[in-house]
Amino acid sequence: MILATANLHKVGEMRELLPGVELEPLPEGYEPPVEDGESFEANALIKARAAHAALGGAAIADDSGIEAYDLGGAPGVYSARYAGQGAGDEANLDKLIREVDAAAGDRRAAYVCVLALVEEDGTEHVFEATCSGHLLGERRGSGGFGYDPIFVPDDTDDDRTMAELTAAEKNAISHRGRAARLLLAHLARG
Ligand code: IMP
Repeated sequence: MILATANLHKVGEMRELLPGVELEPLPEGYEPPVEDGESFEANALIKARAAHAALGGAAIADDSGIEAYDLGGAPGVYSARYAGQGAGDEANLDKLIREVDAAAGDRRAAYVCVLALVEEDGTEHVFEATCSGHLLGERRGSGGFGYDPIFVPDDTDDDRTMAELTAAEKNAISHRGRAARLLLAHLARG
């Protein structure tokens, strides 16, 4: 299966999350589609459909992001470019800290992940999962990527951020881990 993502962290996480599934990265020179959908599902489908159409065979794509409760769900589908196109993880994270601090209210947030699968014959499936938690005003930890240093998930016994969890701990509770297990269950059903 082609894994339609250019994000190397995601490729690594997905390889661990989908044991037994042979994941091929996008080939060199692949022109990714414009992700102009207004939902995670729309963008995941845009990426999986484009890879399937260009390369044939089955393709999976993930679209994910974080929704801050007090910001009306922002940054949402704009998570990767919250501080502007090409701004990068650090600037995006700084902006989220600023905006949530300024809102000075509810600090709850949730990661959302949609995995889209386009099978060899074009049949489409989507698998969606979330991971809820709250946002800190400063970074803690060096694991994971993106917003992980300020995101404290609800599903642990302590108050470590996602960036302070081991990869296995993150995978057990993360939005992407949960969506991947839904996809695995689908594949197992044949
Ligand atoms: P995508 O590659 O278009 O799906 O953008 C996803 C963006 O959401 C990433 O660039 C991160 O900013 C954020 N994100 C998604 N999943 C995670 C995660 O597991 N940890 C931290 N940030 C994440």
